[in-house]
Amino acid sequence: MRRFPHPPGGVDDPAHARCPADQRLSGRLEEAVSRPAAQQPHWPDPDRVNAVVAELRRVDPIVTPAETAGLAARLASVARGEAFLLQGGDCAETFADNTEAHLLANLGVLSRMSAVLTGAGGLPVVSIARMAGQYAKPRSNAVDAAGLPVYRGDIVNSAEPTLAARTPDPSRMLRAHAHATDAMEVVRRVGAGGVYVSHELLLLDYERAVLWADGCGPGSRLTSGLAHFLWIGERTRQLGGAHIAFAELMANPIGVKIGPTVTPELAVEYVERLDPDAVPGRLTLVSRMGHGLVRDVLPPIVEKVNASGHQVVWQCDPMHGNTRLSGNGFKTRHFDRVVDELAGFFEVHRGLGTHPGGIHVEVTGEDVTECLGGACGVTESDLPARYLTACDPRLNAEQSVELAVVVAELLTG
Ligand code: PEP
Ligand code: MN
Repeated sequence: MRRFPHPPGGVDDPAHARCPADQRLSGRLEEAVSRPAAQQPHWPDPDRVNAVVAELRRVDPIVTPAETAGLAARLASVARGEAFLLQGGDCAETFADNTEAHLLANLGVLSRMSAVLTGAGGLPVVSIARMAGQYAKPRSNAVDAAGLPVYRGDIVNSAEPTLAARTPDPSRMLRAHAHATDAMEVVRRVGAGGVYVSHELLLLDYERAVLWADGCGPGSRLTSGLAHFLWIGERTRQLGGAHIAFAELMANPIGVKIGPTVTPELAVEYVERLDPDAVPGRLTLVSRMGHGLVRDVLPPIVEKVNASGHQVVWQCDPMHGNTRLSGNGFKTRHFDRVVDELAGFFEVHRGLGTHPGGIHVEVTGEDVTECLGGACGVTESDLPARYLTACDPRLNAEQSVELAVVVAELLTG
């Protein structure tokens, strides 16, 4: 296994010359990232970006291809209906919250959820944390209400509402890598080899800089050095765009978020592009339809993908289709709507005889007040008390475990 591209030395470097696959992969990677790329920051100084990318090419990777291959094997079992996938964590990790206490709280709630889910429906659980790199955020608007460039996650700029703080700063990619390295150390310490990490495949200047190549032959492929699992978001899944083209080059298991505008035909295009070799579990389709639409929109998608013969992981994100503004101005989600989308997801799969393979949720082990409802009964007037998220509202520890109990019942039933 080698770093890719080969560390500086260029074509005259003997190790580079020994590996003709590098030339081909470089060409394909450049072609992929030169396609139209949605949701990228407008870096003020391109030379500085190039310097940071060059520096990132020399940093230590955070994860290994052998670990990623281990996850791919587990996801194959999910796709075959033999396991259940639990994925969760912060919407947006921040540098300030990259503390041992926060990481342990989030890993703790995932492990409690996993304990509740394990054995439900007779299935083992595969856990993936949204952690150690979930620093880049897609946004609906390029500027905020005050006309400032929008916050795009700590890897790009600062949330502080000043022009200087919001101006994208490429050196933040180096800070992100350092923070992710620290976070991964905590994951490895407490994860006992079973917590894999994931983040959104969004910021291409970061993702393209820390890669492994798995050989020098014609079939050589790229594996991320930054996460075991990467997903493409709802706003960056354009078929002609850079994110899909980049993911095509990767050996990692890949997710694609699919919202209510996705047609069955489009879903099959994703499957054919991202799972050309029909490998069970290579692709995870993450439906995030909203509780009112899932029962209508998802069935024809599942039917058509199933008929294509590919074995994908069907995962439900019951959060992002159910976001709304509370009366007192907080972006929130109601526990009951989250549960209803999950119930709809299970109904659809039960009706079609397919495997409801997993859930993808925004959760924290901390006692926040960001989502409404649940047994703890968070109300609109409670929201300001501990509304701490840097982006979307997360279920707190109690709501998360309560949700796991509901999902365990759905799996058993
Ligand atoms: C997210 O997972 O935080 C996210 C932005 O999701 P989506 O792309 O589905 O909107
Ligand atoms: Mn989110």
